Amino acid sequence: MLWTKTHIPTLREDPADAEIISHKLLVRAGYIRKLTAGIYNYLPLMQRTLHRVENIVRQEMNVAGAIEITMPVLHPAELWQKTGRWDTVGKEQMRMRDRHQHDMVLGGTHEEVVTWIARGEVRSYRQLPLNLYQIQVKFRDEIRPRFGLMRGREFTMKDAYSFDVDEAGLKIAYRKMAEAYFKIFRRCGFDVKMVESDVGAMGGFAAHEFMVPVETAGGEETILSCSRCDYAANIEKAISVPLTIPKTDEEPRTKELVFTPGMKTIEEVTSFLKQPAEKLVKTMIYLADAKPVAVLIRGDRTINETKLKNHLRCLELEMADPSTIMRLTGAQVGFTGPIGLDNVPIIADPEIKSMVNFVVGANKDDSHIINVNLDDFRIDEYVELRRAEAGEVCPRCGTGHLEAYSGIEVGNLFMLGTKYSEALGAYFVDKDGQERPFVMGSYGIGITRTAQAAVEAFHDDKGIIWPKAIAPYDLHIIPLNMENDQHKQIAFSVMEKLENAGYSVILDDRNERPGVKFNDADLIGMPVRIAIGDKGLKEGIVEIVRRKDLSVEKVPIDNTAEKAIEIFKEL
Ligand SMILES: [Zn+2]
Repeated sequence: MLWTKTHIPTLREDPADAEIISHKLLVRAGYIRKLTAGIYNYLPLMQRTLHRVENIVRQEMNVAGAIEITMPVLHPAELWQKTGRWDTVGKEQMRMRDRHQHDMVLGGTHEEVVTWIARGEVRSYRQLPLNLYQIQVKFRDEIRPRFGLMRGREFTMKDAYSFDVDEAGLKIAYRKMAEAYFKIFRRCGFDVKMVESDVGAMGGFAAHEFMVPVETAGGEETILSCSRCDYAANIEKAISVPLTIPKTDEEPRTKELVFTPGMKTIEEVTSFLKQPAEKLVKTMIYLADAKPVAVLIRGDRTINETKLKNHLRCLELEMADPSTIMRLTGAQVGFTGPIGLDNVPIIADPEIKSMVNFVVGANKDDSHIINVNLDDFRIDEYVELRRAEAGEVCPRCGTGHLEAYSGIEVGNLFMLGTKYSEALGAYFVDKDGQERPFVMGSYGIGITRTAQAAVEAFHDDKGIIWPKAIAPYDLHIIPLNMENDQHKQIAFSVMEKLENAGYSVILDDRNERPGVKFNDADLIGMPVRIAIGDKGLKEGIVEIVRRKDLSVEKVPIDNTAEKAIEIFKEL
């Protein structure tokens, strides 16, 4: 392909709204253009990368025995109402009414529709197991679309759904998908990790995520993994091992109101009162489906909101706003405490049980209470809500320690069980003639997200460094001077040889200065580039450059194509 015959609008400046490097690079290198918040056009280079990711996914899904179909983007709301997700998915779902006033939904996932297919088409255990998948656009009305394709409102996914006669069958299907995912992501160039995750709104009883570890700000999830065994989990899911708390022989004292003017944060209070954070109890007020609940946790700990949400079985959990806190406690944010909090249920992390003479907010502006003990207030329930942290003992092997790293979720697996089949009445007849609900699993891969994750994981200060399997083109040829017939003739003949050998090539035929062409080549990131210029030609050589480390090989002109292929294959 000639540069002037395609469209690669590279830019000099980073886009103003991009927060992470992969988003900046994809815009600057001319891969994507924003239409509106969270919705992008994929320009020619992006389109090629997406096709390559899709093809890898498709090949491995087919090898794993999954069958490709296409389901509609537009769904009738009734299906979602029947499974209850019309309520649970809530505002993230794109909804509309058709001209007959029927509620319609733009699909963000397809459990309902695929279960509807199975209900109509699959009657007997003899037709099972079955795994149906598609590669298709999805919609999610993100409250705050950001990070380019990473958290978009319209994106492409591969979604697969397995149907089995029983849980044993589901486990086999799940394992097959996990194996396929490892193959897919390794082919895409990632050192991917499979970690335990929360089932969330999807329901079911087990879930895993495939994470690409990154050292940049683009890693939006924190993973904890064991230094000794294979335990790895999303921090929201990671089990915090109940702590063995040393007994204190401190005698309980009498509580005392202290003046703490403007001291609202844990840091401010601890330094003002000269008490360590372990001597504080934080009182956080949440709204669980608009109902207030207070949660107590030690000052130096973090509440795992996923655990809290699961415990409360609520659809929406958010921190209470300042006016609600004022109404419930009579004080500003920062001075909330459990004493006298009569009108709100109080949940406490069990670590509180062993605390003596601690500090709490006084429910009075600019005031805390010191020397507080458990007798001084009411606790309705103890629930393990502490978020696991790096450095803790591994919950699986008990000997290793948890290490934290940041990652991008590129795939997920869910054991759904019979949630969807029962809700939608999707039954088959088993070998004893009994009707039973399908036992289901669901398996997603973010195609657009995987492409951007590669940029987040592989780049340098000059631009993108594509893994070779998903680069838009394998090789990039740069004749330094298009007005020089010899440069042109060599460039075109090398392109022809490479294309005949089955490689994809972009040839920069612009009348631009060499510096511009090299900068753009670094920016758009093809794995191997071939530069043809006067200096080399005098010595009978061309330069072949590996994008990943910019290392240069000087090769004889006549061997250019062969040598470039060799270098490409070795990458
Ligand atoms: Zn371990």
